[in-house]
Amino acid sequence: MRKKIVAGNWKMNTNLQSGIALASQINKLVKNLPDDSKTGIVIAPPFLHLSSVQGAIDNEKICLASQNCAAYPKGAYTGEISAKMLQSAGVKAVIIGHSERRAYFGETDETLSTKVDLCLENNLKPIFCCGEQLAERQSGNYFNIVQNQLLKGLFGLSPENFERVIIAYEPVWAIGTGVTASAEQAQEMHKFIRAIIADKYGSLIADDTTILYGGSCKPSNAKELFSQPDVDGGLIGGASLKAEDFIEIVKAI
Ligand code: PEP
Repeated sequence: MRKKIVAGNWKMNTNLQSGIALASQINKLVKNLPDDSKTGIVIAPPFLHLSSVQGAIDNEKICLASQNCAAYPKGAYTGEISAKMLQSAGVKAVIIGHSERRAYFGETDETLSTKVDLCLENNLKPIFCCGEQLAERQSGNYFNIVQNQLLKGLFGLSPENFERVIIAYEPVWAIGTGVTASAEQAQEMHKFIRAIIADKYGSLIADDTTILYGGSCKPSNAKELFSQPDVDGGLIGGASLKAEDFIEIVKAI
């Protein structure tokens, strides 16, 4: 049975103090969730906050993630943070290939594939983002775009390594815009992604792959999105910055 997950991407928001406060609030609310809640909860604060947040949460109940990692294992790369460093700080997962990194920091499919490898080598779970831009949606080319991103970023992995990856489908036109993909649009793409995984790795692995939806997901629309058969939870930006909203989304699964 594949895992249902709600992951919060804080992006470049909060300072150290307010970040610790947010993590503590989330931690408190998570404690009140029913014991049988099987939804995986992930938070991805800025790098600077990771160690402090790690000390502020129950790491059995909340998985600590980072928003990025370096494309090199170590060495003279000023300002970069390696997968090994993240692992040593208690990080368990890494968001790879968020559309903001692709758009503003020029991250290519090749770079992302290297980052995925480095994560796996360091026992970190990649949360691999894919998704089309507005013009690509409008031109009807969106299946091709997403297929290419997965082919180049992930499909070089062995089956054993692919099974360790979480995928997040995030249509770029829906990120931070308030415009959510409809539940039908999300389901259509998630079903397509699962089908191409099945073609490459077989249906057992495809059925076990967690595919998250991201893009203006909030308490008011989470239930409908998550009720789709191939939508296994969400990657949440804006709404993850309010502990109550984030937990409402967790409860929507
Ligand atoms: C994101 O950045 O991954 C995201 C989904 O953002 P938002 O929820 O704000 O659209």
